[in-house]
Formats: sequence, structure tokens, C-alpha cells
Amino acid sequence: MAMVEIENVHKFFGDLHVLKGTSLSVEPGEVCAILGPSGSGKSTLLRCVNVLEEIQAGSITVDGQLMGFRKDESGKLHELTTKQLAAQRTNIGMVFQRFNLFPHMTALENVMEAPVQVKELSKEDASSKAKELLERVGLSDRSDHYPAQLSGGQQQRVAIARALAMEPDVMLFDEPTSALDPELVGEVLSVMKDLAESGITMMVVTHEMGFAREVADHVVFMDDGFIVEQGKPADVFDHPTSERTKDFLAKVL
Ligand code: ADP
Ligand code: MG
Repeated sequence: MAMVEIENVHKFFGDLHVLKGTSLSVEPGEVCAILGPSGSGKSTLLRCVNVLEEIQAGSITVDGQLMGFRKDESGKLHELTTKQLAAQRTNIGMVFQRFNLFPHMTALENVMEAPVQVKELSKEDASSKAKELLERVGLSDRSDHYPAQLSGGQQQRVAIARALAMEPDVMLFDEPTSALDPELVGEVLSVMKDLAESGITMMVVTHEMGFAREVADHVVFMDDGFIVEQGKPADVFDHPTSERTKDFLAKVL
């Protein structure tokens, strides 16, 4: 069974039809890179997966759970309450383009926050877990720093540690390196590469073609609300079949 199953999803913003029947399966442990021009619907697709956006048709399941809904005994679907949705979302970690750390909390406190608030872990347990995660992203020596005292690359690594703190099955990344100075991109990609090797399922919207080619198992090319092409990186990069993919790759490679 796929870890993330997106089936015939349609998403509208008012009259704007942004996702036009998108279907995509991401297998457990797979790294799926999503490429495509600006405005093609990549962020919207990710945001639909963890129900930051509602969809108007189709369905999305993560680890067998239909996102945003529950079935009653008779099989009828009901929208989840805010609390139920929050519980469902704990299985999905998300890292955005802009580091969205809590500015008034240290790196350690940022990573501890969700396990203490949502999982009701004790402060001691959350703290030792958070220290392990900061070590994993190479920031043991920065745990008492506030976001403003960290570089963009360090902040983004804290954001990754924070997302991992809830032990999600799936991690979503929306252009995690796009807002970084070029010299800081490598340290974040390297943490993501380690994470990929750990076997967690990842969906990564990125313009880092090197990362997509080397680290991804599965590359998806989106254009104008459609998945135009998908396959193994070598196939999509070296033998694209759609004209739109060819045009895009010619511009970015
Ligand atoms: P991408 O991430 O591929 O650049 P997006 O998913 O952000 O594309 O956007 C796809 C389209 O949806 C764009 O035309 C964008 O302007 C529009 N869009 C995205 N978010 C909203 C929103 N909250 N309200 C209205 N339109 C939106
Ligand atoms: Mg986007």
C-alpha cells in the first residue's frame, strides 16, 4: 500500500482551478521530488496532503487514513473536528520555504514544543528527545540560541528537527532551500539526504535539480495543475517525453 495516495484531486481557489485531477502514489520510504514552474500547483498539492487546504473533489490518504475525514459505523464520511484533524496531522511533518520557528523560543524549546503540547510528553523526555534531534541536524551547540541568533541554514535545520519531533511517517518540504543564501543551501540538503537514507517517506518541492536527481527515487513534473510526467530521476531528466518537461529542464539545467 502507498504511504501517500492522492487520487483525482481537484482544488479551486474561487474560480481558479489549481489542481485538475491530480493523482500520485508515494511508496513507503520513497523520496518524491516535485518539480515544475512557478504557479503550477506544487505548494497547493503539498498543502492539500496535510489539509492546510481543503479539496473539492478526489481523496488523499496517508498511511491508509483518509485525510480530513472519518468514517462512521455505516461507512458515511464526516469532516474531522479541528482537534481530530490536529491529531491526524501529527503523522505529517512540514518544512516551509520561510523558516517559521517561534521567535521567542530557543532552538531546543522550538523542537520540544509540539511533543509537550500535543503528545503531552514530560519536559524531561521532550528535552532529551529534542537534544537528540538537534544533534542529528548538526546543531547540538546551538540548542540555547534563539532563531534570530541563527543563520538561515541553521534555522531551517531546527525547523526540520522540530518537524521530526512528532515522529511523522511522512515529511513534506516546500522549497526548503529557496530562501537561503547560496552558501547555506548545502547544509540543509545534506540533512535532508541523511533523512532520506533513514527511510522516512518524503515529498519535496524543489528547484535543486542535483538533489532531485541524486536523492529522489521518484520525480514528478507538474505544469498548470497537471502531473505532466513522472518516473525515476534518470528517466525524467535524461529522457523526458513531454514537451513541457523538456522546455522546463532546458531552462533550469
Ligand atoms: P507553485 O507552488 O507551483 O508555485 P502554488 O500552488 O503556490 O504554485 O499556486 C498555484 C496557483 O494557485 C497560482 O495561480 C496561485 O496564484 C494560486 N493560489 C495559491 N494559493 C492561493 C490562495 N490561497 N488563494 C488564491 N489563489 C491561490
Ligand atoms: Mg510553491
